[in-house]
Amino acid sequence: MRLIIGMTMLAVLLPKFAVKCLIGLYRHKKMSIYTRTYSGQNFEKIEHRTITIANRALSDIDTWLLYIQRKVDLVGPHPMDFDSALRVDKEADQRHRIRPGIISPAQVKQLSGIAHSSETELANDFVKNDSQLRRTQVLAIWALQKLFGTRNQRLYYPPVFKLMGVTIANLTMKSAVAKIVNGLGDSRTVATIRKYAFVNADCVNKVRSQQRYKSTLNQFDAVFADGIGIKLAARWQGLGVSENVNGTDMFPLLCRELETQNRSIYLLGGTLPVVKRVASKLNQEYPNLKVAGVSDGYQHKENPAVLHQLINQSQADLLLVAMGAPQQEQWILDNQEHINVSAAIGVGGLFDFYSEKVSRAPEWVRELSLEWVWRLAAQPLDKGKRYLIGNPVFLFYAAMAARKAKRKTNVSSTPNVSRG
Ligand code: UDP
Repeated sequence: MRLIIGMTMLAVLLPKFAVKCLIGLYRHKKMSIYTRTYSGQNFEKIEHRTITIANRALSDIDTWLLYIQRKVDLVGPHPMDFDSALRVDKEADQRHRIRPGIISPAQVKQLSGIAHSSETELANDFVKNDSQLRRTQVLAIWALQKLFGTRNQRLYYPPVFKLMGVTIANLTMKSAVAKIVNGLGDSRTVATIRKYAFVNADCVNKVRSQQRYKSTLNQFDAVFADGIGIKLAARWQGLGVSENVNGTDMFPLLCRELETQNRSIYLLGGTLPVVKRVASKLNQEYPNLKVAGVSDGYQHKENPAVLHQLINQSQADLLLVAMGAPQQEQWILDNQEHINVSAAIGVGGLFDFYSEKVSRAPEWVRELSLEWVWRLAAQPLDKGKRYLIGNPVFLFYAAMAARKAKRKTNVSSTPNVSRG
């Protein structure tokens, strides 16, 4: 099988390679070989040669020769530079237990915008859960990304951009977590509460019909881009979203960071059993993170003073509000003057996922950016309208917004020719 795949790839690439070589040689008259050494399974030294013409690398024929020689696999951890490999902590870095891959799972996650851990952590995860099924999934998702991705579109990645009325902080997951945690500061003063939210396609649909939600969001310190809908809408305007920053993926990273800084959190929202389950799971998984208090999102809705007192007595640094959008964002804005926390985040259905009341989409579904399909299948009555009607409506308005943005760019880039 390996021989068939390898020979097929060589048969496809060689003619293209030969033509490029001839054209390159004719134009530049200079050809050189660039050799890189990286470490394979059990730290085996692998020499990888690329032919270059005028500093431009030509087709990677050598990769497929290495594949036929069983030195690399189709799917596996990203190959590591040999010298760097000698310096790694051999216990912590598990990648050398298997062969490196031409396609790495970290690369697939990056293309989906969900590579929230370091490359080493992603490689270790892959080695830990390695199976033929997982390899096939990675390969299939990579092929789909290549087929439907936007390799040729040049995108602009501004740090902040406005999308359909919402100002988005275009951060990676890591920098979003750093922003929240570093922003907690040393003291809790009522006047300086920082507010964060996530917006997905459904939120943007709500923003369109609810002026109050729009104005609320725009008073927040940062609003993060959540999901494929926002990514598509931004891309249609020539804008790149740095990463998919959603509450459920952020939560473990945030907790880990809060734990190292001895911070405390208050959980508000969801039903009582759910929020209690979240607290006990957090105590097990992050023993040094203090869960200062919990309240469900229903009991004291009509009497927020009770909640103010509970939250203030807890002396929590960070408040997570899980009441669904836009209710949670409104609650944060309306009550910020009464609560003594450093920051508050609207986290939607996070508690339902973390408590495992609602099952999260498996890894390969998330890599395909199809988490919404999973949620629809899990809660068809609750989420049917949101996704089946909401998604096409969102895409329609996103396309209109892109057209408008394009027209605006065309007008502003038209030279001002004076008539007469
Ligand atoms: N919720 C709440 N109080 C309410 C309404 C909802 O605490 O008055 C909770 C609900 O139990 C659920 C979360 O808010 O845990 C909303 O989840 P959803 O999946 O709808 O969030 P979204 O996807 O809108 O962010």
